Amino acid sequence: MEEYICIACGTQYPPALKPPLSCPICDDPRQYVPPAGQQWTTMADLAADHENRVREDGELVGIGTEPSFAIGQRALLVPYGDTNLLWDCVTLLDDATAAEVERRGGLAGIAISHPHYYSAMVDWARRFDCPVHLHAADAEWVMRPDDAIRFWDGDQLELEHGVTLIRGGGHFPGGTMLHRERMLLTGDIIQVIPDRSHVGFMWSYPNLVPLPDAEVQRVAASVEPFAFDAIYGAWWDRLIPADAKDVVRRSAARYTRALAGEL
Ligand SMILES: [Zn+2]
Ligand SMILES: [Zn+2]
Repeated sequence: MEEYICIACGTQYPPALKPPLSCPICDDPRQYVPPAGQQWTTMADLAADHENRVREDGELVGIGTEPSFAIGQRALLVPYGDTNLLWDCVTLLDDATAAEVERRGGLAGIAISHPHYYSAMVDWARRFDCPVHLHAADAEWVMRPDDAIRFWDGDQLELEHGVTLIRGGGHFPGGTMLHRERMLLTGDIIQVIPDRSHVGFMWSYPNLVPLPDAEVQRVAASVEPFAFDAIYGAWWDRLIPADAKDVVRRSAARYTRALAGEL
């Protein structure tokens, strides 16, 4: 039995004798099946020619896979008392990565913005014996169910040590962001784009499908009660170090104007 992993999106599936017939995450029109078709790997094969880099990104420490794998996101270690919370997740988990995370205080929990980064969350949860916090609105996208997964409902979930999970919606109905001190970690829910004076909001990023304006305004309104200066996006170095709250306001207003043909 193998826990097969989709090469295109990095999602790990429950133990099986053969790879799944398809990957619902990739079949969903927010993502895509590559022109060459669906392909699968395993954690052992992935570890044979990939490794994780653990390094500082802004004021946090990130974990990203090299060479880039699947969607290419990096996870972040969020200080959490004398341990950490893992924000978003990457598929590869090898002994070197686990040892490095342990050296930095281990994990008390995992929180993930949306299904594109569920990746191998169950392997991570089991390795660190910790829960995974996911918004219940996206429960249908969990491909490998496990007792470690704790679904939360509503608009906010207060964890310990000043960490709050915020449901923004948008890209996915349960689209989640994390607030701690003056930082907002957004995954793909608010997208850090090349022009750091603005952020983006999309239903599908690879396929360039926009969101309704009302939904974008709802995402922006969800973070309005929180004080933050910095936004950390989903990839290495995708961050806005200062003034990020104004950037979100400005970008939501620009989205309305863009859809109205007023740019
Ligand atoms: Zn996939
Ligand atoms: Zn996404």
